[in-house]
Amino acid sequence: MIFKRDFYINGKWVAPAAARDHQVIDPSTEEPCAVISLGDAADTNAAVAAAKAALPGWALIDPAERLACVERILTIYRDRAEDMAQAISLEMGAPIDLARGSQVEAGASHIQNFITAFRDFQFLRPLGPHAPGAMIAMEPVGVVGLITPWNWPMNQVTLKVIPALLAGCTMVLKPSEESPLSSLLFAEIVDAAGVPAGVFNLVNGDGMGVGTQLSTHPDVEMISFTGSTRAGIAISKAAADTLKRVCLELGGKGANLIFADADDKAVQRGVRHCFNNSGQSCNAPTRMLVERSIYDRAVAIARETAEATRVGPASEPGRHIGPVVNKSQYEKIQGLIEKGIAEGARLVAGGPGRPDGLNRGFFVRPTVFADCTPDMTIMREEIFGPVLSIMPFDTEEEALRIANDTPYGLTNYVQTQDGARRNRLARLLKSGMVEMNGQSRGAGSPFGGVKASGRAREGGHWGIEEFLDVKSISGWSD
Ligand code: NAD
Repeated sequence: MIFKRDFYINGKWVAPAAARDHQVIDPSTEEPCAVISLGDAADTNAAVAAAKAALPGWALIDPAERLACVERILTIYRDRAEDMAQAISLEMGAPIDLARGSQVEAGASHIQNFITAFRDFQFLRPLGPHAPGAMIAMEPVGVVGLITPWNWPMNQVTLKVIPALLAGCTMVLKPSEESPLSSLLFAEIVDAAGVPAGVFNLVNGDGMGVGTQLSTHPDVEMISFTGSTRAGIAISKAAADTLKRVCLELGGKGANLIFADADDKAVQRGVRHCFNNSGQSCNAPTRMLVERSIYDRAVAIARETAEATRVGPASEPGRHIGPVVNKSQYEKIQGLIEKGIAEGARLVAGGPGRPDGLNRGFFVRPTVFADCTPDMTIMREEIFGPVLSIMPFDTEEEALRIANDTPYGLTNYVQTQDGARRNRLARLLKSGMVEMNGQSRGAGSPFGGVKASGRAREGGHWGIEEFLDVKSISGWSD
């Protein structure tokens, strides 16, 4: 059992103001694997006060010094990659090879992309040749609260902490109480990198406690949040009285439009992407829309791909998928699978219950539904498990209409050899991101959505700008 009860406040590891233990459950075994503390208002206030005191110094130092700190963080993060992979795998159930390869590496590549973007970043720039003496200054927002989920822990922590550091903000991180171990290790990395006391603080806690205390705190200028749409709405309301900037990266229900001329691997790639990380990704392509002439073949490939997807414990090496994060997610997913059957979708792979041979752990059968209709619950709600919903379409217009008929708008996907069609659809799909023909987005491109997916933009240049206010100045002396 791991005991990690302390918080990181003002450059020191400190005991919580009042003892309130919380067990972290290993989702592969359903057994407790660690004990942390849930903070209360005294801890949150201490962390915010430390961040407030550190703000003037950090905001005003040479940006090159902030960059040097982040470069040291990247070096130490890489040195501790194996510890980080073990922490993530244990706390949220990512199979160890996925944790090493994708989970840890996502954090490293975000840090690297921020470093690259920051080298060209201009905090002070002229408005333009038409306006002599007019300057634009980019100034740190101030003390920021960072609230992160459990599904890609270091991906989301680095997407918030690193640009906040580079921008000159000081911060309090509240990681998910489901996955605190990776963030506690990240705090050790920040400490070892010599980030000045008070600039970065970590308080563990739950949403109702530390999460709400940060969202309502008068000295916190901004909340950057990733997680459920439900919590995003609650945070927006809680933050309204103090007029904070609120940046939200929320759920998704991505459509994957597969046309008859798509490449041979398009269906298999789409199924694997949907199941990756046990389906626990906000940008998962969970609605597969297939042109009718290749529909039966696509359903057969999806079934074969699902049946070939192994499920197993996080500690085992291999390319299998692990459990989902906790009991409530497991039960929610089971309920949605049952609902898919009850509402008349055709179950072609998987289904309710655990996979054969797994009697403990939050393991879900890789599940495929065909003949779905847009009004079904499994086509509308974010399931956050390895569950794919497929339906046919006849025309591009129909596919576009179905894809856009969702409250969400994070990532949509298009598979076709027709370049004009790709470009047309890329502009018409209502989402913050469109990925086509399996090509991943470029390094440092902005991650974020529209509508109920929230409107944050994270990563690279845009991700740094999230943590800056724009000041407009006239009468500047050259
Ligand atoms: P959640 O939104 O409840 O939790 C995410 C983070 O927000 C955690 O740190 C949590 O402590 C905090 N939080 C929760 N309620 C809060 C509140 N009222 N005020 C301030 N902070 C609060 O997510 P969850 O319960 O862990 O997962 C439930 C659903 O969220 C999933 O099924 C999925 O649909 C969605 N989700 C989306 C993402 C994403 O990347 N977009 C990530 C995780 C979860």
